[in-house]
Amino acid sequence: MRLFITGAAGFIGSNYARHVLSTTDDEITVFDALTYAGNRSNLEDLETNPRFNFIHGNICDRSALEKALPGHTAVIHFAAESHVDRSIENPDEFIRTNCDGTNTICDVANKAGVERFIHISTDEVYGSIENGSSKESDPLDPRSPYSASKAGSDLIALSHYSTHGLPVIVTRSSNNYGPYQFPEKIIPLFVTNLLNKRKVPLYGDGKNIRDWCHVSDNCVGIDLALRKGNVGEIYNIGAGNELTNLQLTHTLLELTGNDESMITWVDDRLGHDRRYSIDIQKITKLGWVQEHDFRDGLAETVKWYTQHRSWWEPLKATK
Ligand code: NAD
Repeated sequence: MRLFITGAAGFIGSNYARHVLSTTDDEITVFDALTYAGNRSNLEDLETNPRFNFIHGNICDRSALEKALPGHTAVIHFAAESHVDRSIENPDEFIRTNCDGTNTICDVANKAGVERFIHISTDEVYGSIENGSSKESDPLDPRSPYSASKAGSDLIALSHYSTHGLPVIVTRSSNNYGPYQFPEKIIPLFVTNLLNKRKVPLYGDGKNIRDWCHVSDNCVGIDLALRKGNVGEIYNIGAGNELTNLQLTHTLLELTGNDESMITWVDDRLGHDRRYSIDIQKITKLGWVQEHDFRDGLAETVKWYTQHRSWWEPLKATK
């Protein structure tokens, strides 16, 4: 297959590109606008692979897509503005890229006749859930500009399926962790602060709950959805590793040899959702199994950041 992967200079997409090149014979084209979150060095080890191609382009730019996309078998669409805090400060870019950009690439992909369009989404579209777990058929209740723009993009992509038959599959994963995550998100932010002997800012009472899925496990799930998923369907990908932010922080403090004195309590994030939890029966039925034990995966991740200072130091400086 020839895969057109948007946003693969970012965290999950770069891990997915690496996964595809190492497990299949597929050719890939990475299409990325290289925003602050996109970094060519995330793909450095792939650049010399003859099955790898990079195009600097924006998903809101129809003519750039019309030039680059035709001839590909499938689109795997990661490109998005992805940081909730930034969406609270400046929502415009989130609506532009996540909604307008998704609509543009769906339209171009439909006219190009792709065989699969995998739209990458998030558990945040279901909103906060006090008890139980959200199923794919549950109503959407996004509450931040980020999650609202992602929910909008899911509906836009699925409307291209219902209306035009674009073969869309949506994946919604819980929070990912692992190598190459921009040091603004909680795990790399806290680890890199601690490696620099700086305190970590913890929101509110620290009791917001998130499920943590290793990025490699999410990539396996996305690839399974691409190759075995049913068109028009949504698949949750989660790991059952639900932790409060305080529990997560304690583990990171322990793994870096620090204690609670390194926590700075800060005012809660506006509209901070209390808990996300997703039901993963559908992706499990496709054959997905979680390979990473959370504690081992987190320890491995801390080690990666410890060994890759030259990767994150320049990013932290620009943040
Ligand atoms: P990221 O912020 O690390 O990377 C986003 C990438 O998209 C960057 O390379 C950036 O340059 C590119 N991009 C942004 N706007 C673009 C545009 N207009 N045109 C082309 N490229 C553009 O994001 P991530 O954490 O890797 O997330 C990837 C996808 O997965 C997103 O759709 C996100 O909503 C979703 N997701 C992320 C998580 C998570 O925990 N990180 C969890 C669930 C779902």
